[in-house]
Amino acid sequence: MADPFSPEKRSYTMSQIKSKDTKPESAVRKYLFSRGLRYRKNDNRYPGHPDIVLPKYKTVIFVNGCFWHSHEGCSNYSVPKSNTDYWIPKLAKNRERDALNASALEKDGWKVIVVWECELKKKLQAQRLERLYEEIVHPPSEKSC
Ligand SMILES: [Zn+2]
Repeated sequence: MADPFSPEKRSYTMSQIKSKDTKPESAVRKYLFSRGLRYRKNDNRYPGHPDIVLPKYKTVIFVNGCFWHSHEGCSNYSVPKSNTDYWIPKLAKNRERDALNASALEKDGWKVIVVWECELKKKLQAQRLERLYEEIVHPPSEKSC
């Protein structure tokens, strides 16, 4: 058997992968929408261009790939064994940038929620999304200062 994908199918698949509306993000968006939440997508006005912005709840959500965002302790994340001179600083830089973006947003009064790609696997997704909704709508009471 030759390549199971026709060239058309393959380029379609690749374009899906490259598109901004990646699958894990759209799963989160669809769910929140179905629960009646309205949001903005990939808003360039905020540090790190959060995937989902919920102005009403002063909440931003990042849907992070475990590899690119160094999900510590996650089985999807491991430093590549070759080209380590390239990857280690690159991944460290991503991580640093994520932290800076999050603290800039928090300083502005935003709540920052990270949803990891691995949390959106079929088995875990429903539970994670339910929890996410609760985090947005009923955040654990915080002391006001
Ligand atoms: Zn992960």
